[in-house]
Amino acid sequence: MINFLIIGGGIAGLSAGARLSEHGSVTVLEAEDALGYHASGRSAALFEEGYGPPSVVALNKASAEFFFTNDYLTPRGLMLVAKSDQADQFRKDLSELGMAEISVADALERVPVLNPETVAYAALSEGAYDIDTDRVLQDFARTIRANAGSVLTRQKVTRIRKDGHWLVEAAEVFQARTIVNAAGAWADEVARMAGIAPIGITPRRRSMARLPTPGGHDVKNWPMMLGAGETWYAKPDAGKLLVSPSEADPVEPHDAYADDMVLAKGLARYEEMVTSPVTRVETNWAGLRSFAPDGTLVLGPDPSDESFVWSAGQGGYGFQTAPAASRLVADLALGRAPELDAAMVSALAVSRLR
Ligand SMILES: Cc1cc2nc3c(=O)[nH]c(=O)nc-3n(C[C@H](O)[C@H](O)[C@H](O)COP(=O)(O)OP(=O)(O)OC[C@H]3O[C@@H](n4cnc5c(N)ncnc54)[C@H](O)[C@@H]3O)c2cc1C
Repeated sequence: MINFLIIGGGIAGLSAGARLSEHGSVTVLEAEDALGYHASGRSAALFEEGYGPPSVVALNKASAEFFFTNDYLTPRGLMLVAKSDQADQFRKDLSELGMAEISVADALERVPVLNPETVAYAALSEGAYDIDTDRVLQDFARTIRANAGSVLTRQKVTRIRKDGHWLVEAAEVFQARTIVNAAGAWADEVARMAGIAPIGITPRRRSMARLPTPGGHDVKNWPMMLGAGETWYAKPDAGKLLVSPSEADPVEPHDAYADDMVLAKGLARYEEMVTSPVTRVETNWAGLRSFAPDGTLVLGPDPSDESFVWSAGQGGYGFQTAPAASRLVADLALGRAPELDAAMVSALAVSRLR
């Protein structure tokens, strides 16, 4: 009998599995051919401690040490830019993200393609980092295997029953004492299969385009750029520039793809702020950011059945929160006192939604 059966081979499932594998047998079931195929393989890979609602910021802060100690972060920086008619939004974003205002001339020195005719305000945070997301995923999977656990792909869970213990049908049938629901956009679907009430997860599509280097510049040391009100962002990636329209359109769980019209409008918002026109999109994709109704993560046992543990609603913060979120999931699943502050544990608990 497996102690902890984890459904979902993204960052939520693998991080929780790695923590739990030190305390009992763990098996991770992933429906797709590869780990991190959905949201976890499509993120912008940014760590910004101040980004997100208070309970997310608490998880970010509690995750920082793990990322730094294991050398997963590379300094990136975050620059906020706004037009002259966006002054109020600029001030709001600046205070929420704890950024420092800089002159447009300083902004241009960091990012020479910014358009001084449209960029009226700029702010900078040096506390934003690129996360080596592939290595984080693979290292968590390696920890599970090193602790004699299994990480299995092509195991789509289609039926869940309970008869004293859980019986979970995928390509094979698994028996487990505890289920961890880390199914991302499909978390409510998995709950329903298990006879557990859903929590109202909404997957929201976010598209991304990869552009050739603008104006032939070396973008390696540019900060990530964010349009005021999160209306677009641009981030250097392997010598190219990723640009996202930053949409959050609600959709059904599916293998997401970019919406051409949304992408075109987002690229136009980016293009307005730079002097280098978008002449070609090399490739594009989209991923689903899945949110609970109050926009923060859902971590811990379900009040109706303690042997069904949630790790869902990671939204746009699943990587930066993973070290602390997985520790909390493991603490609660093992019945240990959490390290995180009690108010934050309640703000992340399933019971707040019931
Ligand atoms: C464009 C974009 C940019 C982002 N940028 C950032 C960022 O900069 N920083 C950050 O921290 N986060 C970012 N995120 C958010 C982050 O990617 C997600 O929060 C995180 O990947 C969610 O992880 P997950 O494991 O919950 O979901 P997923 O990675 O989607 O994993 C869930 C897995 O469950 C599997 N599954 C579902 N149903 C079943 C079933 N029945 N049986 C078996 N397996 C099943 C799925 O196949 C899937 O692989 C971004 C997301 C997007 C889309």
